[in-house]
Amino acid sequence: MALMITDDCTACDACVEPCPNNAISAGSPIYVIDPAKCTECVGAHDEPQCITVCPADCIVPDPSHKESKEELLAKYQMLHG
Ligand code: SF4
Ligand code: SF4
Repeated sequence: MALMITDDCTACDACVEPCPNNAISAGSPIYVIDPAKCTECVGAHDEPQCITVCPADCIVPDPSHKESKEELLAKYQMLHG
């Protein structure tokens, strides 16, 4: 499933660059993950890179976007041609 950013986000910007799908952008006031682009890093990395770098521990699974690993991989392949 796609991940989401909670209100604990401090808008530090650390998660934007590591995302292989350009899924994270600055919102107001917290950063946001585009569920149409987040693949939990499936297709690119073993672990979600945003969770790895987030100092606030505020990135969690988004229960409203449940997807299988196969669906996430298909999304990654669609995004990257
Ligand atoms: S899990 Fe990966 S693809 Fe999803 S927002 Fe985080 S870095 Fe981007
Ligand atoms: S790394 Fe964490 S605290 Fe920093 S902008 Fe991203 S979600 Fe917010």
